[in-house]
Amino acid sequence: MDRAIRLILLGAPGVGKGTQAKRIASRYAIPQISTGDMLRAEIEARTSIGVNAQQVISQGLLVPDDLVVQIVKTRVRHSDCSNGYIFDGFPRTLAQAEALDKQEITIDFVIVLDCRDDVILRRLSGRRICPSCQRMYHLDFDRPSVDGLCDICGVPVIKRRDDEPETIRKRIAVYRELTEPLIGYYQDHGNTRLFVVDGGVAPADTPEVIFQRIIQVIEGGVQE
Ligand code: AMP
Repeated sequence: MDRAIRLILLGAPGVGKGTQAKRIASRYAIPQISTGDMLRAEIEARTSIGVNAQQVISQGLLVPDDLVVQIVKTRVRHSDCSNGYIFDGFPRTLAQAEALDKQEITIDFVIVLDCRDDVILRRLSGRRICPSCQRMYHLDFDRPSVDGLCDICGVPVIKRRDDEPETIRKRIAVYRELTEPLIGYYQDHGNTRLFVVDGGVAPADTPEVIFQRIIQVIEGGVQE
């Protein structure tokens, strides 16, 4: 595809944004910009941003808007964004969406991955992550080949601290209250096109099935 693709993947935590963002990034050769991953990297590196973010994240709350906006503003200036980008987990509040507009950071598509809360809870409680390469696994759908060890790095996979049931419930509530209103915001927003895609119920709807739904809307939208 020779047109730049600048998109936002919107959806509750655990809906599969990260998984799909990686696939989209690879298909269209554009970077995945995950504020969650970037914040976790700051925590890992024990920077001052990381130290401040850690407590907020482990409580299932959102880090301050100006902090994530600053991170994203810096990231989109990199040359690898000239052909487009996927925002994964950003924006998460109206103020963040407005900051994008103010910075004239263009968005062509907003893809909402839709999923029921009970499905999300199940997905997140079984989720495991490699602390080294960030590869995600799932105890029900996508186990490491050797029990408990990352296929790529061989180190033990762990549960993210914010994937404990109490925190998951908090994160879903935060999503419904602060992030879901962005659907209305982008429904009628300049040239931005919004599509709602069924995020599915695993194992019936595999990541590949959901990916095909996403490609259809992107490529249908680009051709129009
Ligand atoms: P994620 O990996 O996208 O689920 O993000 C993990 C956590 O990082 C979230 O629960 C928030 O605490 C924080 N975070 C990530 N992205 C944002 C954002 N755009 N705005 C505020 N907090 C964020």
